[in-house]
Amino acid sequence: MTTNSELKTRRLAATPRGVGVMCDFHAQRAENASLWDVEGREYIDFAAGIAVLNTGHRHPRLVAAIQAQLAQFTHTAYQIVPYESVISLAERLNALVPISGPVKTAFFTTGAEALENAVKIARAHTGRPGVIAFGGGFHGRTLMTLAMTGKVAPYKLGFGPFPADVFHVPFPSALQGVSAADSLAALARLFKADIEPTRVAAIVIEPVQGEGGFNVAPTELMQGLRALCDAHGIVLIADEVQSGFARTGKLFSMQHHGVEPDLITLAKSLAGGMPLSAVAGRAHIMDAPAPGGLGGTYAGNPLAVASAHAVLDVIVEEKLCDRAAELGSRLVSRLLDAKESNKAIAEVRAQGSMVAIELCDPATGAPDAEAVKRVQAKAMEHGLLLLSCGMYGNVIRFLYPLTIPDALFERALNIIDDALKG
Ligand code: PMP
Repeated sequence: MTTNSELKTRRLAATPRGVGVMCDFHAQRAENASLWDVEGREYIDFAAGIAVLNTGHRHPRLVAAIQAQLAQFTHTAYQIVPYESVISLAERLNALVPISGPVKTAFFTTGAEALENAVKIARAHTGRPGVIAFGGGFHGRTLMTLAMTGKVAPYKLGFGPFPADVFHVPFPSALQGVSAADSLAALARLFKADIEPTRVAAIVIEPVQGEGGFNVAPTELMQGLRALCDAHGIVLIADEVQSGFARTGKLFSMQHHGVEPDLITLAKSLAGGMPLSAVAGRAHIMDAPAPGGLGGTYAGNPLAVASAHAVLDVIVEEKLCDRAAELGSRLVSRLLDAKESNKAIAEVRAQGSMVAIELCDPATGAPDAEAVKRVQAKAMEHGLLLLSCGMYGNVIRFLYPLTIPDALFERALNIIDDALKG
């Protein structure tokens, strides 16, 4: 049997440290919300491949769809020889995204690529360079998306210079005393101090910040951004790479606000573990780039597209939006109970099943990343995989598959209770 420690030695010798790896065990197989390592140990997977597996590991519907496509063809390059499944997936997404009027969708491979292309589309449409993003936001690891990402360590360290004309304003946070009005005031100041609104192509926002700590955007902010974008002809981009596909209790987080973006970026749970991303948006904006301006060799990979069709079927058939709301409220009530006795829990945040707790030193109020590490380690001892996030690494996020069986979910909640008792 290959052991985890043998694999770790080989891993450290063969792959660079820049690809930071969280776990010291190595995956052997996985099923729904469970994962087994090469030594046969079982874990409850509350990481879900970083929000990719809303439909769980190897959902039978996805496996069947991928197998059926495997028997047909695996690659033609859509830009060379197109195929129906991309057209029908675009049609389905065009009808589902929270944008009224004619919508078109372009496919890519990774989340970062979707964000890169959303900016290209917004620039082609407006003829302007500027991009405004939010502090603590995360949009990817390519150079343009790093410029938009609002967190220096570890993402940006040593990688500059970044593309110019990208600006940040603070994201609202009750804990840090930043209101939606403060964010909008910062934008107004930015328009005075740094860039005039008529040079701004796009404002990009995660409706719930993912890597930034599961901060939920207030409706007031979304309404304010929409009004500013309308007033100045700026493209509003909602980055739903992490918040999309039923995670928040609705198919897309923007649906909680009744505010329409102009473009929406999708990836992660879109194809349930196969690499696929997309930009959907108002048809006249999506058509701004000239033919050949968008694409990619693997964009719209047939296996990934087949998987995405199955994801959309499963979300409806298994009522995963309702399930996200139900599981999220069960978890939140347990976390609020824990907060009564554990004073390190400064805040419980949630939208549906996008749930997190922020840990701070009860005496000083300072962010406590070490406490997060202790909770993670304790949970891991009992076979529960938890992820951290947040500007200061002091947030624990819970990203279980929405298809998790009730009994397993309950087992995980008990492990979380214990881990939070210290
Ligand atoms: N946007 C958001 C909101 C994300 O959470 C991520 C990934 N964590 C990305 C973009 C980048 O996606 P990818 O890693 O697939 O490039």
